Amino acid sequence: MTNQLIVISGPSGVGKGTIVKLLTEKLGCALSVSCTTRPPRTGEVDGKSYFFITKEKFLKLIEENGLLEYSEHFENYYGTPRAFVEETLRFSDVILEIEVDGALQVKKAYPEALLILVVPPDMQALNERLYGRGTENAPHIQERISRAEYELSKKNEYDFTVVNDVLEDAVAEITEIIKSRKYKE
Ligand code: 5GP
Repeated sequence: MTNQLIVISGPSGVGKGTIVKLLTEKLGCALSVSCTTRPPRTGEVDGKSYFFITKEKFLKLIEENGLLEYSEHFENYYGTPRAFVEETLRFSDVILEIEVDGALQVKKAYPEALLILVVPPDMQALNERLYGRGTENAPHIQERISRAEYELSKKNEYDFTVVNDVLEDAVAEITEIIKSRKYKE
């Protein structure tokens, strides 16, 4: 039985952060902490939420092949540190919570990676969650909604799509997908 590289994507506001937190607690798998050039939001902790780094440092990491994947969106860079993932996979499953372009890069490099897309019940629900969250202003929310439409259009590239309507049900469904795939090997 080999350890799995699990990629969870989904539009901003779909609730994937909460899902991923519950999954890591339930399954005991490791969560990769990404690097980003975006500034921290209130309450975010460096080294835990993200590694908040400068654009110069990010470009250097790309140059040194230090990232497993990366993408630029919302005018910032986001990327997965390669060393943590490769080392941790030797003894544990690893979850990446990343957007769709990065997820597809991972699938190319690791065809055995498990790609799960978390989707909202409908766009109305996503709008309500984004406006209710209060972390972004209106133009940024619009940007995130257009991005959500793009992410949802890539659904067929994922191994599984899970609707997050009732949180516990979505977590249970993803747990089942991960476990059944693990024991099939
Ligand atoms: P936020 O700015 O709301 O924290 O994240 C914006 C988007 O960036 C989310 O869809 C999140 O999943 C994605 N993201 C976070 N870390 C990474 C990463 O390391 N690589 C990629 N490609 N996307 C990431």
